[in-house]
Parts: sequence; C-alpha cells; structure tokens
Amino acid sequence: MCGTKIFRPAFAERLAGDAGHTILVTGGAGFIGSHLCHRLIAQGDRVICVDNLETGREDNIADLLTNPNFAFFLYDIVDPFTITGPIDRIYNMACPGSPSKYQRDPVHTFKTSIIGGINLLELAKKKSARILQSSTSEVYGDPDVSPQSEDYRGSVNTTGPRACYDEGKRGAETLFYNLHESEGVDTRIARIFNTYGPKMDPEDGRVVSNFIVQAYSGDDLTVYGNGTQTRSFCYIDDMLDGLMTLMETESECGTIDDPVNLGNPDEFSVLELAEIVLDMIESDSKLVYKDLPVDDPHQRCPDISRAKALLGWEPKVSLKEGLVPTVACFGEEMYRQQRDQRGVV
Ligand code: UDP
Repeated sequence: MCGTKIFRPAFAERLAGDAGHTILVTGGAGFIGSHLCHRLIAQGDRVICVDNLETGREDNIADLLTNPNFAFFLYDIVDPFTITGPIDRIYNMACPGSPSKYQRDPVHTFKTSIIGGINLLELAKKKSARILQSSTSEVYGDPDVSPQSEDYRGSVNTTGPRACYDEGKRGAETLFYNLHESEGVDTRIARIFNTYGPKMDPEDGRVVSNFIVQAYSGDDLTVYGNGTQTRSFCYIDDMLDGLMTLMETESECGTIDDPVNLGNPDEFSVLELAEIVLDMIESDSKLVYKDLPVDDPHQRCPDISRAKALLGWEPKVSLKEGLVPTVACFGEEMYRQQRDQRGVV
C-alpha cells in the first residue's frame, strides 16, 4: 500500500522450524509492554517491539537493543506499516494508560485504539497471527456493580475527559469482535485492571507511582477526593502470567474470543494505599487532599471467575509483597537521578 512503512527485522528471513515464536509487541517500551518483551525474549521468542515513545521509555528496553532476537522500531501504530517475514503473535499494548497522559492529546489517544487497532488487525489477518488486545477495566466506566464481571456492560460517560481512552478501548473491542466474526482473525481481549511494579515511570501520574515518589521525597501524598474510592492493584508478574496464558490457551471450541478480566480482586481504598506506602518507606509525609478528577470511578474490583475457569489463572502476589520490589526500584531510580543531577560519578 502507498505510504505504508515497511519494517525488516534482521531475523525476518529465518528458516521455518526455528524454535520460539516471532512476536510483535506494540507499546513494547511502555511499563507492561517492556516487561512482556523481556519475558518473551527470556523464553526463547523473537520480539519485534514497536513504540512511538510517547509514554514508553527507551530505558525500559535498552538492555535488549543488542539482543539478536530483539528488534525495535520507533513508530506510531496510527500510521500504516507492515513487517517482512512471519509473525505468529501480536500483543497490542500501545496506548497511554495514565489519565494525565492520555488526556493530553485525546484525539490521538482515540486514534491509537481505533486506527491503530484496525492497522494491527489487518496485519494479523495478513500474517495469520493471533492478536491480543490490551483492553481495560475502564470499559466499565464508573461501575454500578461490584465486582465487575465481563457481562457487565459498563457506565461510561461518552463526552467526559476519560472518554477518549474508555471509548477508544471499547471501540477496539468491537473491532476485535467484528474481525473475529467476519474474517476469522484469531483474537484475544484482556481487560487489564490497575497494574504496578518495578520500572513504572516516576512521572506517570498514577496513584502508585505518585505516592511512592512523594513519600520518598518527603512531599505530601496527593489524595484526590476523600480517598475512599477503591482500586484493585495487580503485580506485574501476575499480569504477565495472565496475558501470556490468555494468548496461548486454546478453549475446547478452538479459540477464546470473549473478553477476559485480568486483575487482582483484593480491593483497597486510596487512603489504605497511602498508609501502606508511608509505612513501607517509613516516610513522614502527610496527606494533602485535592479535587477528585471528573468521572473518576468510585470503585473498581475485577470478578476473575472467567480467567480462573478458562485459564486456570489467578494472581499470587499480594499488594504488600509486590510493593517491596516496586518501592526498591523507585528508590534506586530516584537515587540515580539525584546523583546525576549533582554530577557525582
Ligand atoms: N489518585 C490519587 N492521587 C494521585 C493519583 C491518583 O488519589 O496522586 C486516585 C485517582 O483519583 C483514582 C485512583 O487514585 O481514584 C487511581 O488513579 P490512577 O490515576 O492510578 O488510575 P485510574 O484507575 O484512575 O486509571
């Protein structure tokens, strides 16, 4: 197609029969995407990572850049592209996930899910690749029921500040459904609930990273609203297990095309999270209350019965366990930043 960018990974022309899959990870320099790239490389797959670095960080994949089984292309999936050679799997992890980031350019956020989704579904069809969409608990909006099962159709404001993300992700699910039904594309849809872990961007703006950075810096922890709103936080390793199992599981009828919730059902209020972080870091920071953002969901908790039944998956890491390596990683990154600012070698 005219204007279509062509990417040629060095390993594109390998002979069939080589071990491992060739896997495209879009958004592969982001928080979840980069952890996924590392896991796939470690298990012997070849990974093509595409990221526009809007919110992804090159640092997240720096150690993979010299790996012969890894290829990185700086590109925006909104623009048409193709890739030479076979592709077995596509994980679409591309889209800013933090409200403060996805609201900066809402039209582009929407395009990323919709136009990017169409581009990737067409690629999946051309390559006969299985494709997994990273959808989100945000498809439930500010839910009227708790926990949220996949059958709950959600309560999303189509014109609010979160709509560009929520409706983009909902529309992408529709595209995945349609391309599966009409063209037989082998699709998976993971509805990802709040996920945290080492290598989150300190500037990300979400609650876990904000609280840890603030507690380390001795700044007040910014609690939006009265802090009674809840979230359910899933550790990154559990999320990767869920995503990879969803990708590789065959159901009795040959495919799993219905959406599957992936998240940790242990629910915490924002105030409870603040207390845990302050305790863990032994910080004297206080709380400061700020306005609750418009349309901020007041509760969020996944019903993971479907993931348990279909995938035999459930999270293993509690919030307090998962925060230990997370907090340690933030501490190291902040130490490095301060050292570099002081010019100390
Ligand atoms: N939040 C907060 N302080 C912060 C950042 C977020 O109290 O510094 C709240 C936010 O209003 C929401 C919850 O924490 O109720 C989770 O927000 P986050 O941005 O992490 O993700 P969301 O689940 O809203 O996409």
